[in-house]
Amino acid sequence: MVGGDADLLRETIHQFLHAANYVVDAAYDGEWVETRKSALHEETYADVRDRTELHSNHVQSARDRAVDALKSVVAKWSKGESATLPTFTTPFCEYNQRNATFHNDHATLATVDGRVTVEYVFPDENRDTPHSEYLRSDEWETTGATLHYRNGSFYLHVRTKANVDVPNRPENGTVLGVDLGIENLAVTSTGQFWSADELNHWRQEYVERRQSLQKCGTRWAHENIQSVGRKEAGRFGQHLHCVANEIVEEAVETNCSHIAFENLTGIRERMTNLRRFHEWAFRRLYDYVSYKAEERGISVEQVSPNYTSQRCSTCGFTHEQNRPSQELFCCQDCGYENHADYNAAKNIGLKLLRDQTGSEGGAPVGVRLNTGMLNANGVVPVPDSVRAGVHGESPRL
Ligand SMILES: [Zn+2]
Repeated sequence: MVGGDADLLRETIHQFLHAANYVVDAAYDGEWVETRKSALHEETYADVRDRTELHSNHVQSARDRAVDALKSVVAKWSKGESATLPTFTTPFCEYNQRNATFHNDHATLATVDGRVTVEYVFPDENRDTPHSEYLRSDEWETTGATLHYRNGSFYLHVRTKANVDVPNRPENGTVLGVDLGIENLAVTSTGQFWSADELNHWRQEYVERRQSLQKCGTRWAHENIQSVGRKEAGRFGQHLHCVANEIVEEAVETNCSHIAFENLTGIRERMTNLRRFHEWAFRRLYDYVSYKAEERGISVEQVSPNYTSQRCSTCGFTHEQNRPSQELFCCQDCGYENHADYNAAKNIGLKLLRDQTGSEGGAPVGVRLNTGMLNANGVVPVPDSVRAGVHGESPRL
């Protein structure tokens, strides 16, 4: 490799680590830690693009690595273990099929200034190693790679995947319950929240633009309304794809075999204030989750929505007064208190279990829950030790 190319790769790695650390910093506001990719994307993507010369896929991969590291720290906290917020120091950089091209004996990798070509040097060329086999075989598809820099050398760990996909359904099935709503588009029984703010905001903008065009009444305005409509549908659709991906990822990460939604039929009669637009968004989201989940061997089901918002997910007591406000659930019998949408998500998961009692093989046996108290954004509170600025040794990542 020529010296200039090595410099470009080192600088790319440097900026990649900077991007990941930037996302970690943004995730922590001194009190809460944000672990949702969509929220962190909104918050950091433009900034990181401004501050670095990284390829857009590097910006996304750096964010994903930061989210993974944050999630594992949060998981430790929830088990009562101590852990500090992650810091990325070990030099590495992620590649996928959009910022790298993998060939039999070389690859081209995006850097902060165009692409460079790197020749592979297989470990121990004389022995019969499987490395080159995987790269040369048609049965294995290269899905991405991690570039490491150690002791003055670059190492490319290439990931391959067999072209036959056999989804592995987790045994002893577990359900992820999902509640859909106007304020929070989706809330899972594991305590992940996806706000509907963006969708509601875009919708509002669209309605206003359409109204002003309608006042014109010309043929041009009419055509323009249609094109605005198509653009908006695309924008909403893309956002819903993102949320669907994250819901499926949540199910995979928490090892769920089933995802339960409430039955969408007649949802506009049940939920006051629900616009046709929301119903459209819910159906889209449900469809996207269905097919994305199927690819991962997870089944998606709808359950009867009766009383999911008024029923206590802890003791089963069902009463209208359990819902003193839109956001709060407070059981009048056992005193259980939590975010109302989260309580509903648990009930939706539990409902699927009850519906399936007595059926055979593959039926779920439990609901994946978050045992903690959640705030309205579903973000996780930081333990006092971390909040007080007690930064121990950072985990090596
Ligand atoms: Zn109760």
